[in-house]
Amino acid sequence: MSLSFDPDTIPLPVGHFIGGELIPAGRVIGMRRPSDGKSYTDCPVAGPDLIERAADSAKAALKVSNWAGVRPRERTRALQAWADLIEAEAETLARIEALSSTRPVGQLVAGDIAITAEQIRFFAEFADKEGSELAPTDDASLGMIMSEPYGVVGAITPWNFPVSMAGWKLGPALAAGNAVVLKPSEMTPFSAVYLAQLAVRAGLPAGLINVVLGDGPTTGTALTGHPDIAKVSFTGSTRAGSAIMENVARTGVKPMTLELGGKSPQLVFADADLDKAASAIAGSVTFNAGQACVAATRLIVEKRVADRLTAAILEKMKAVRPGPTWDATTQYSPIISERQRARIDSIVRAAVAAGGECLTGGNSMDHPGYFYEPTLIADVDQANPAIVEEIFGPVLTVQTFESEEEALALSSHPTYGLASGLFTSDLSRTIRFARKLEAGTVWVNRYSRSRDHILPTGGYKRSGIGKDLGREAYLANRRTKSVLISL
Ligand code: NAD
Repeated sequence: MSLSFDPDTIPLPVGHFIGGELIPAGRVIGMRRPSDGKSYTDCPVAGPDLIERAADSAKAALKVSNWAGVRPRERTRALQAWADLIEAEAETLARIEALSSTRPVGQLVAGDIAITAEQIRFFAEFADKEGSELAPTDDASLGMIMSEPYGVVGAITPWNFPVSMAGWKLGPALAAGNAVVLKPSEMTPFSAVYLAQLAVRAGLPAGLINVVLGDGPTTGTALTGHPDIAKVSFTGSTRAGSAIMENVARTGVKPMTLELGGKSPQLVFADADLDKAASAIAGSVTFNAGQACVAATRLIVEKRVADRLTAAILEKMKAVRPGPTWDATTQYSPIISERQRARIDSIVRAAVAAGGECLTGGNSMDHPGYFYEPTLIADVDQANPAIVEEIFGPVLTVQTFESEEEALALSSHPTYGLASGLFTSDLSRTIRFARKLEAGTVWVNRYSRSRDHILPTGGYKRSGIGKDLGREAYLANRRTKSVLISL
């Protein structure tokens, strides 16, 4: 059966999901589909009363199920059963997600959802492998470093990869013995609700995952400031990350994991496999129409191969074909909203006004929905808006260098340090740059994540604090207590 579907026929779980029940309450925000701009439903907005109810429900679920205290393998088994059901329901989940978001249904089933199930299993395996430690003390004492969950974790996710981002938060928090109150983006809220419904169907205690819908100022602020939320795990913009830090500082003190924005450079040396580099860079900036935190947005190429590489990238950028997210063959995504498309366009225009030359793109596409042309801008200096701003769209800049020092200087961004790419066949240079690049991830001769979920992801500078994925993400959901016994 084809994965393609009619967007007017998909039932959506519209409501907050608290204690295992769908609650359609609160003021609402109107929603439009990115693929055709049509209004289709409303997103309810949870206020402080529903946050209170969700936190109470999470605490009650922890108590009744003894989730933190059961044999850890029980948590592993329960989470694996949930991952199995996510896989079995992948098509339904993909259709719910594709309707609201920029993710094409085909990519969701083969990629985002399959990988999310795999990552939940990955985190489930930590439950009985990471624990407390004995400390070296004298023989008249016993010192223990006890590892414990926090209790209720508050998680907030962005709209660009809604299922994946929910999985990155829920997997480690639950495996580590916590309950979660999750607030997905108000632009793509329903796949998270369905994920939580699947968890209950798979046998996880009702109330262990609560999903509250709404915007940042109302729902997000009430969530991060709630006294029962012991830890905050956030993915989104640097601006919202700062606002969350401020709110947490004002309302209490709690640990935070912040996965924020990026403006990632790609350094390409003349000795690199240029075809491979062109595919990786064009692929990254057109995948999800550049709406990825790690999108390759600043090409920095050795001058003597710049024309050749740029021509190869241009050819690939011009070849994209837009299509609605409900068509199984679609590869090129729309922009999430008209507002975001207008923002992309205004930065591109400011970049050209500041001296940049648009080699391709620079306009909305003549197609229903919020599509924007893949855009390549040359002749930009470090102060150009297309270099400074996280555009979060299919826009790549190109700059050239003649020495390693120059390449390194251009790669450094005043605000962001999320990821960076390096294309070279010189091993010593690879190590030199891996040490010097100021970014939480360095990809060499590739520009994408693999399915090695043990590799953590997170930013340097204002791209964030802490990591998602890897052992670090699991441990960030546990806290330690020192116990010293006098024998
Ligand atoms: P956003 O910051 O506008 O919103 C993200 C989430 O935060 C949404 O759920 C939103 O409702 C909520 N929010 C906004 N203001 C808030 C506040 N004051 N308090 C609490 N919650 C608040 O980001 P977006 O537009 O949804 O997503 C794009 C951004 O996310 C980009 O900057 C991108 O780089 C970043 N991102 C980072 C990563 C990463 O791993 N580092 C991954 C994906 C996206």
